[in-house]
Amino acid sequence: MTTREGATILVADDDEVLLNTLVWILKDRGHDVVAVSDSSTLLTRLSEVSPDLLMLDIMMPKVDGLQILEKIKGDDRWRDLPVLMISSMSPEDGTVKSLGLGASDFIAKPFRVKELLARVDAHLRTGMALRQARDEAREQAAEAKARAEEAAIRAEMVDILHEVTDALKAEEIYHILARRVAHVLNITKCSLVIPQPGGEVGLVVVASDNPMLRNLEIQLDGYPEIRKALDTNQPVLVADVQDDPLYTEVRERWQRDGVQVPTKSVIAIPFSLKGAQSGVFFLRTLDQGVTLTQSDVAFADQVIKTAINAIEKAYELETVQSDKERYRWLATIDALTGCLNRRALMERLERELNRVSRYRTEFSVLMIDLDRFKNVNDSRGHLVGDSMLRQMGDLLRREVRSVDLAARYGGEEFVIVLPETDVDGALVFAERLRKRVMQTNFAETGDPLNITVSIGVASAEPDGDVPTADSLIARADAALYRAKNEGRNRVRP
Ligand code: GH3
Ligand code: MG
Ligand code: MG
Repeated sequence: MTTREGATILVADDDEVLLNTLVWILKDRGHDVVAVSDSSTLLTRLSEVSPDLLMLDIMMPKVDGLQILEKIKGDDRWRDLPVLMISSMSPEDGTVKSLGLGASDFIAKPFRVKELLARVDAHLRTGMALRQARDEAREQAAEAKARAEEAAIRAEMVDILHEVTDALKAEEIYHILARRVAHVLNITKCSLVIPQPGGEVGLVVVASDNPMLRNLEIQLDGYPEIRKALDTNQPVLVADVQDDPLYTEVRERWQRDGVQVPTKSVIAIPFSLKGAQSGVFFLRTLDQGVTLTQSDVAFADQVIKTAINAIEKAYELETVQSDKERYRWLATIDALTGCLNRRALMERLERELNRVSRYRTEFSVLMIDLDRFKNVNDSRGHLVGDSMLRQMGDLLRREVRSVDLAARYGGEEFVIVLPETDVDGALVFAERLRKRVMQTNFAETGDPLNITVSIGVASAEPDGDVPTADSLIARADAALYRAKNEGRNRVRP
């Protein structure tokens, strides 16, 4: 109804003649009119019709109109319904009584049609305005509440994400979830229960009010809401464990065993987390605490779903990132020795030499070749040869500084890059390395296995021309050739 015309008006009067007159007048005015002459059916008709205005006779034979008025005004559904009282009572008496009970107006019989219609119009208008205002207020309140809840959830989720990206172990995640959910919902007791194979036993993996608790076993037949949540995969609310039918058996057991359980309400919300087990959030309030409602369930469910979602996103992000990084890293590494591979070495070397040309720093490379390595393969086998190369890689990486690079250049050839190291420094380092190798027993089992290395050193001088990566390597290779020629197991610039 948007105008005064076309409203629905319910008229209750035991005076059939008056009733018919009223119906006729109001219909003529364009309203929908429902007439009730039997006052005992009034309340039923009222809920069926949902009128915009009620016109009610104060004096009806079976029931007092004022009593009906009181009843109507005490009912939430009709609190805002304008009621126009009609009576042959003396105006003062009727007015006072009916207005006191919440009637909108009082009109005395006999009435003038014009006045009656004017009042009907006025009350339809105010009734509508009132209802509209209430509806709006209700909507606004609901909206504001939803917004506040959403903001709260979001803020919590951001926090959770921060925590979760730092700690991705399932146990830690459970802990964060339980604590956070308890916090958002303002419930002190929130635990996470993971059902064990067979379904009889649950593992309480974490409880918000007991940080030390780990993997406490519980018998699930004492927790019908957990079982139901797992069976139905739906949240379960038990508003009061003392009278909910779900708890009948459990209550009987409590009585038999003479135990007092201080629980008031419980909520069980099933969840499943990618990459981890599924389980149930178990929320509980105590005797003196609040009674949980369906709206708590809805809110808790939303919080948990959002949290799980956030965690799964974090999981995915972490996996993708580490996969990418791992892949990128793997592409630079020689699988046998763990050193940089040749391609990665040349890339890094170019980069380092760029720095050298810009900053005019010193820079050296060592080319290391195992002496008579073929003999190792021949006498001890290829696998032992491999093992020696692996151990050589470990040794080199252990010996270099963090700014240095250790790379496998070829079969049994390694290159060490020494930034900001002049030729003297490089020779000292190479000599130390040569001795270290000589002193190392590379045999994993059986007879000792030793080897020597020859090392060629090449350096870029800060005041000279900056060499290319290739030319620097070539110079180191030439130096290595000299070391080999002069008898092996030596270092040559
Ligand atoms: P020198 O350098 O002192 O002149 O003698 P060498 O015996 O070390 O030199 P040569 O270049 O003749 O032989 C290198 C050997 O290294 C030959 C090859 O089988 C072996 N080799 C290269 N890569 C690998 C590897 O990945 N595993 C094993 N087990 N052996 C390898
Ligand atoms: Mg060799
Ligand atoms: Mg060689």
